[in-house]
Amino acid sequence: NPSCSSSAMAAKRLETVKHIIIVLSGKGGVGKSSVSTQLALSLYNSSPTVRVGILDVDLTGPSIPRMFGVDNHAVHQSSDGWVPVYADGAQARLACMSVGFLLKNKGDSVVWRGPKKNGMIRQFLSDVRWGELDYLVIDTPPGTSDEHLSLLEHMAPLHSRLSSVIVTTPQAVALMDAMKCLSFTRAVNLPVLGLIENMSGYVCPCCGEISNVFSTGGGQEMARREGLRFLGNLPVDTELVSLLDASDVGGGAEKSADAFPLLARYQATTSCK
Ligand code: ADP
Repeated sequence: NPSCSSSAMAAKRLETVKHIIIVLSGKGGVGKSSVSTQLALSLYNSSPTVRVGILDVDLTGPSIPRMFGVDNHAVHQSSDGWVPVYADGAQARLACMSVGFLLKNKGDSVVWRGPKKNGMIRQFLSDVRWGELDYLVIDTPPGTSDEHLSLLEHMAPLHSRLSSVIVTTPQAVALMDAMKCLSFTRAVNLPVLGLIENMSGYVCPCCGEISNVFSTGGGQEMARREGLRFLGNLPVDTELVSLLDASDVGGGAEKSADAFPLLARYQATTSCK
């Protein structure tokens, strides 16, 4: 049975990974990749020794390389598998892997049917040399599709280390889709760490007044109703957009936080505490 052997290979490769967090959203555009990025960076900043990986399985819309400022990098093949791109350069504690690194031209589109997507995910899980990781954050496509089923199938032997986070925006339409995500997690018995409400209100940079652009509180209410932990709400933040869009100005092995503006912001936040 090929899926049996692929799950054994993934289990072997990921046996040095302590926690695997799958980030889900019902809809596209609600900020799932931004939240995955921020989650990975805040885990990374939680200790100077913690090791974090981020795997982008949003095959048709990979945005992780750009958000980590490493979109001009490529993965290398070693005798022991693919070497991920380290967003923190020589420190090598923040490993990224995405189909975006494998495209010849960044603007190329990935037009693949299910079996090819499944093959790519299998390779991501069994052929990448992640090494020792405390956390592997997996950014998935919106909804619950082939990619999600492939992930869970290949990682079946690692079930006790898997958990998920659901990202939603506060509007009723997004919440309806977040409910579908939740029912998926229940159907496949995937633990949910909690729910994040993104784009929850806009804080005016001039006067600090909060405008509820997309309403607010819907995610919190859903969490209460469904017995989920509410992990918090993230306001619409114009600075975040430019930080996520900022390209790699540094590059190379000596990359520092200054060359990675989003990381610099996290380090500034951490040192303020
Ligand atoms: P998804 O992965 O759900 O498709 P993205 O994370 O790619 O969504 O976000 C879509 C767009 O919204 C991006 O341009 C991102 O910079 C922006 N965005 C996400 N969250 C916020 C936020 N809290 N404030 C402002 N812009 C945001």
